[in-house]
Amino acid sequence: MTSFRTLDEAPVKGQRVLVRVDINVPMEDGRVTDTTRIDRVMPTIREIADRGGKVVLLAHFGRPKGPDPKESLKPIAKAVGHVLGKSVAFAEDCIGEKAAQAVAALPEGGVLLLENTRFHAGEEKNDPDFAKALAKLGDLYVNDAFSAAHRAHASTEGLAHLLPAYAGRSMQAELEALRKGLEKPERPVVAIVGGAKVSTKIDLLENLVSKVEALVIGGGMANTFLHAQGVGIGKSLAERELAATALRILSAAQEKNCAIILPVDAVIASKFEANAPHHAYGLDAVPSEGMILDVGPQSIERIKGAIDSAATVVWNGPLGAFELSPFDHGTMVAARHAAERTRLGRLVSIAGGGDTVAALHQAGVAEDFTYVSTAGGAFLEWLEGKELPGVKALAAG
Ligand code: AMP
Repeated sequence: MTSFRTLDEAPVKGQRVLVRVDINVPMEDGRVTDTTRIDRVMPTIREIADRGGKVVLLAHFGRPKGPDPKESLKPIAKAVGHVLGKSVAFAEDCIGEKAAQAVAALPEGGVLLLENTRFHAGEEKNDPDFAKALAKLGDLYVNDAFSAAHRAHASTEGLAHLLPAYAGRSMQAELEALRKGLEKPERPVVAIVGGAKVSTKIDLLENLVSKVEALVIGGGMANTFLHAQGVGIGKSLAERELAATALRILSAAQEKNCAIILPVDAVIASKFEANAPHHAYGLDAVPSEGMILDVGPQSIERIKGAIDSAATVVWNGPLGAFELSPFDHGTMVAARHAAERTRLGRLVSIAGGGDTVAALHQAGVAEDFTYVSTAGGAFLEWLEGKELPGVKALAAG
């Protein structure tokens, strides 16, 4: 990963600082229902304001196809002000006269939110003229939106080439954590990958087998691998047509000396339903009408053993149908075990992805992991080994 400058080096005093944030928060009836994303960018906003900078927030909201009052950031300016504890000004456009006037009126330490960048087509096209119009409003650029860094948009990528560019505190924390996960990790590294499908995670699996000492495969995607190896999996969810892909990934792992840990037993039910009657079977005895909904007890022991052997664990995807009790058991036990090892100071644990974050909360251990990324798509692209344009551009700025 390329190096980047942080707020430590940003001379913000008296300067107009364009800060790209992700405050794409859930709303109901015009009210913000979860402020997690706002909370995450608070340290950056507070620090710049406290140091006498003029904070000009840039953000997107939803997927508008042009100006649309339903996707205005105006109500979110209020919510940001509420969390910040002081009022946040709002400008009805993110470029042009209205934006320029609002920026000019901003005192040192003041905070202004500009209207949804996606109201202009130039944002998603990374149009140089639109990026220049944004750049006119600031002296410095700070990107604190890791979750938008996999997109090369004007406010996430283009701007970094036009102004001195820095990583904000949440971007910095995310990049440092990810670096500890795969780029400069304590070894051995064990990756745990689960979830429904192989098809959505082929690039990710191929990248991981070349970077980690062991890969635990669970969830529905393990069924695809088992089927490819000739194991009867009954009526389990699987992508039977991806057998060749699964075998290719297994042979790549062998070539790279990456141990593959697949389930050796499974919890099987006849219905995809909470509390469906279930039983644990060895993989040589999966009933033809059965569905594998979780890893079995022997597999859980093996996964715990893999976690014990690791200095670093990188995790994406549940090990079973974790929304349906009791088929969350394998995921919960593994999550608590990794959390316990982390609390003991024996493990660096890094997890991310929507379902994984939900599962860690369900297990009550999200706070115990070394780092939990809420950055969905950007986290997955990082696991795929891709260079994120928003991060790459920070090195150039
Ligand atoms: P993903 O979005 O690919 O990470 O997949 C997450 C989904 O995979 C969750 O909704 C889980 O319920 C589902 N899942 C995990 N294991 C299984 C399984 N053995 N059978 C069916 N669904 C599963």
